[in-house]
Amino acid sequence: MMNDIKTQILSEFKESDVEKVVFEAAKIIVYVTNKEIFLNGFEIGKNLAQKYKKRIEIRLSPKILENEEKIIEKCEEILNKYKIKYKNIFLERHRSIIVIDTYQPEKIDEGVIREIREKTFCNIVIKRSPLKSSRIIDIVRSYLHKKSKYRVSFLNKVGERIVTRKSTLKRGNYRIIFLGGTREVGRSCILLKTDESSVLLDCGVGMDVGTEKYPAINIEDFNILDLDAAIITHAHLDHIGFIPYLFRLGWKGPVYLTEPTRDIGSLSMLDYVKISKMQGKKSLYEAKDIKEFLKHTYTLGYREVTDITPDIKICLYDAGHVIGSSMVHINIENKHNILYTGDFKYIPTKLLNKPKTLFQRLETLIIESTYGGNNDYHPPREETEKMFIKDIKDVLKDNGKVLIPVLSVGRAQDILLTLIENIENGELPRVNIYTEGILWETSMIHTAYPEFLSDYVRTMILGGENLFEKEYIVKVNPKERDQIIESKEPYIVVSTSGMMQGGPILEYFKRLANDERNLLAFVSYQAQGTLGRRILDGEKSFIIDSEKIEVKIKYKKYDGFSGHADRREILGYIKHLKPKPKQIFVVHGEHPKYFELVNSIRIKLNIEAYAPKLGDSLLLNL
Ligand SMILES: [Zn+2]
Repeated sequence: MMNDIKTQILSEFKESDVEKVVFEAAKIIVYVTNKEIFLNGFEIGKNLAQKYKKRIEIRLSPKILENEEKIIEKCEEILNKYKIKYKNIFLERHRSIIVIDTYQPEKIDEGVIREIREKTFCNIVIKRSPLKSSRIIDIVRSYLHKKSKYRVSFLNKVGERIVTRKSTLKRGNYRIIFLGGTREVGRSCILLKTDESSVLLDCGVGMDVGTEKYPAINIEDFNILDLDAAIITHAHLDHIGFIPYLFRLGWKGPVYLTEPTRDIGSLSMLDYVKISKMQGKKSLYEAKDIKEFLKHTYTLGYREVTDITPDIKICLYDAGHVIGSSMVHINIENKHNILYTGDFKYIPTKLLNKPKTLFQRLETLIIESTYGGNNDYHPPREETEKMFIKDIKDVLKDNGKVLIPVLSVGRAQDILLTLIENIENGELPRVNIYTEGILWETSMIHTAYPEFLSDYVRTMILGGENLFEKEYIVKVNPKERDQIIESKEPYIVVSTSGMMQGGPILEYFKRLANDERNLLAFVSYQAQGTLGRRILDGEKSFIIDSEKIEVKIKYKKYDGFSGHADRREILGYIKHLKPKPKQIFVVHGEHPKYFELVNSIRIKLNIEAYAPKLGDSLLLNL
């Protein structure tokens, strides 16, 4: 089987024109020795792709390329000629690829690409640079470039696996096993098993205080080393935060995700390790395990169908939750189709588009239920925004300070944009908005991936506008924090962590909690047991770092900003799904929300629904 496809492709060429045929995951690469064939490579690749239903790329053998300096020089010359600003040019000589990091990818059109190919005989990969430099993007991209040789052999192995069946079993059983995120919010992790493959959907850590929770990967009949692939829906730690641990245990399989999920996920996990250490906890993994994860990532764009094992195809779709967040559509042998929503939102926000509901086939839906309870109706966004801005205005007028805890990705950028908009149109006074490290970084990362954002924001970024760069948005150096906190002027703080479990927001809170003029504004989900939730539940005094803190600060929750679908959206989404799923598994919700949603799905939508328990192993065959 494995050699079949390669032999077939080889037979399409004259033997003397081809050096080798290799895989890069599901993609087939033909290295040719004939420059003429390389230059016509697009057409040839397209025709072969149609014939063999595989993605095929033609490259010139690296053996006949010129030396590195010459190639880069020629590429620079062409970019300069067309006045295209670029940040870096990397040559991956062993795969005849030039990677161009540019501020203006849209200027590298077909004509420019053709010219570069004709002069350098390399194919081109174009990456957008963020408008302001992002340390993590620099680190991730240059690290992947450095590890490019390893990645070539790794992706070739992944490709061989995709076309090589291991199992002779033909029972046709498909099973899903819930390893986390059932009847709770946190440690999302689902195992999909067929006769042939084992695939993990999400791999997160728990968010409970004190008792760290991890996915139940130690179940019988599951060996991590047998895992074929993992798919990560988005960069929040409860969906990605456990994955480096698999690499620590020695797994070396591919992780499929979007580029923003890869970059922001890496950043959040590095931060997670740092914070664990600072809190004196033994961290689950180290930075080197996160690097190992990075080395094994394979990024996909939305709507890009790809084989990941001999019997499973996946495709990611916009989930509307945070930048790069995905719903995963899984096709098993063309016989059974699953849609896993991950976290999602069904109405469009300033930052993101809403998810689609039309699929070719769909039998099983796995859906989140964070706000699926009987009373979980969010007020309309405009209403919330009006109230939020009015409250802030009142507090600032009264010389108070406003604290807004946010997760570093998602609500943070939405809230910053909302504040900026209202300052620019004069609704809010021009006070300083303080943010800190990781939040600044994640905001910059947004400007590198406009294709994952709403049309409104994309247009701004493509117009060269740096959304988050205003003179009143101040990136705080932790050393200056004390001085800033004491400032007599009113100000706004937008900072992590989102549920006040740590991060700079705690430092501000400790000092500002005892003043009733100040406002603590919650704009995102607060999990059970977290400090944020305890404040919302009315607790009035806390011991933080052996300091007694009295809560006099006003606090309020603004549900309309949520990045999650509320009950109306969840039911609406299911109702609009075409085709209608035959069965629904409800996950990612606290008691009794999952249970209330299950009932409503059964009664209102007349679809079989169930909220699996941790460790449940269910046959999908219908
Ligand atoms: Zn999330």
